[in-house]
Amino acid sequence: MVHNDHLFKANIVQLILMKETDEALKALSQHYGIGVPHLRVGMPKRSAKKVGCYVSETKTIHVMNWEKIEDPFVILHEFYHHLRTQNRKHRGTEKHANRFAEEFIEAFQTFDKHYFNVSCKYKNSNDNMCSKP
Ligand SMILES: [Zn+2]
Repeated sequence: MVHNDHLFKANIVQLILMKETDEALKALSQHYGIGVPHLRVGMPKRSAKKVGCYVSETKTIHVMNWEKIEDPFVILHEFYHHLRTQNRKHRGTEKHANRFAEEFIEAFQTFDKHYFNVSCKYKNSNDNMCSKP
C-alpha cells in the first residue's frame, strides 16, 4: 500500500534529481510550515572544502557546485538543518540530518529501483558535509 508520506518523499527526491531543487525546497518548506531556504552554489569561506552547508544567519543552503544541486542526499541533509534551526536553536545533529535524507531516498527507491544506488553514492561525502553546530 502506498502511504501518502512515502509518496511525498519520493516526489521530493525526484524533483531534486530533475534539478527542480527550488521546487523541492518550496514543497518541503510548505510541508513543514516553515520559510523557504535560499539556495546558493558556492561555499562560504569557512566551509570552503565542504560539499554542502547551511548558514542559519542567512537561511541559506550552500552547495559546492552545480552537480550538488541535484544531489538529494546533500540537499535534504542541509534542509534538515534549516528545519531544525527555526528560532535559531539548532537541535539537529549530523546523524539525524543523514537519517532524514536517507528516509526520503529510501522512499524514492521503493518507487524506482533504477535509482537504487542513489544513497550509497554519496556516503563518502558525509564526512565533509557541514560544520558542527
Ligand atoms: Zn550537516
